[in-house]
Amino acid sequence: MAQEHRKLLIIGSGPAGYTAAVYAARAMVEPLLIQGMQPGGQLTITTEVENWPGLVEVQGPDLMVKMEEHARAMGADIKFDTVSKLDLSVRPFRAECDSGDVVTADAVVLATGAQAKWLGLPSEEKFQGFGVSACATCDGFFYRGKEVVVIGGGNTAVEEALFLTNFASKVTLIHRRDELRAEKILQRRLLKNPKIEPLWDHEVVEVLGEQDPLGVTGVKIRNVKTGAESTLDTSGVFVAIGHSPASELVNDQLELLEGGYVKVEPGTTRTSIPGVFAAGDLTDHVYRQAVTSAGMGCMAALDAERFLAEHDEAGEPAPDAAQIEEVPA
Ligand code: NAP
Repeated sequence: MAQEHRKLLIIGSGPAGYTAAVYAARAMVEPLLIQGMQPGGQLTITTEVENWPGLVEVQGPDLMVKMEEHARAMGADIKFDTVSKLDLSVRPFRAECDSGDVVTADAVVLATGAQAKWLGLPSEEKFQGFGVSACATCDGFFYRGKEVVVIGGGNTAVEEALFLTNFASKVTLIHRRDELRAEKILQRRLLKNPKIEPLWDHEVVEVLGEQDPLGVTGVKIRNVKTGAESTLDTSGVFVAIGHSPASELVNDQLELLEGGYVKVEPGTTRTSIPGVFAAGDLTDHVYRQAVTSAGMGCMAALDAERFLAEHDEAGEPAPDAAQIEEVPA
């Protein structure tokens, strides 16, 4: 077990974390970034990204490899480990990692992102990994020539449905309303794809399947307007109903907003504990884009840098300029 101290610890390796690392490294803060279980975050399980400025199209995983390289090239230390416990009650803050290593830090940038939401059905849990998935790019390949359903009406659901047409013979998009939340350009692509059939005003109430071997055979669906229930045959169920913030490390230590998002002072990344900053999907319940996360990562590094400049390493604020006795010339 190793123990080290840093001025700045960044937790998370999505666009927010890596951007914070680039800025903090360039400010000579010598940050340590701990990547977490999924280095690169959510963009590593997508395909084409068409809204990263400057690149008409880039693969999500490639973009994240480039961000990591960029942060390293600027001098950030990046470690593949997961913070399992974070103590924000005293400064220096203390992070314990899965490896057993301990890092203390004068300031922390939280950029742990968000994780996929599930419907919460017992049958959904039972078939997870056996026909139920929240990642088309990871599991789509297994559904070559088969019929699948995607649940949701946002960008993720539409992108997953479009991606699955590369493998599946038919994709049914089950949405609880009759209007999609996804961007118009994605809606247009979805509606003109002959392999995709939207099923409006329906929700999935149960995943149906076989025990031996464990596998999905269909879904029980309900029309939300009439209440009528019916069954739809399918081999795969892709749940794409949004994400919730990964705030488990701090949910009993920081002020949170409804839904578990970390609360920050408007216009800043400052959380309810001085020296702790939050950026990206962990705190943003409005925009939730790669580019806005990167912007918040930049803000967090600048806020942390200012905080570090104003506080000494023992955790006491640096003496105010007005309090410093003038030495007679
Ligand atoms: P989202 O925009 O929050 O959409 C979630 C969808 O799931 C909504 O259509 C919602 O229905 C539905 N839903 C939620 N809970 C449900 C439940 N219990 N049962 C059935 N349906 C349920 O989530 P997202 O699509 O994952 O996107 C998250 C954020 O990432 C968004 O800001 C999005 O713009 C961004 N994103 C961007 C891109 C891109 O720019 N290329 C790609 C992916 C994601 P209602 O519509 O009825 O609420």
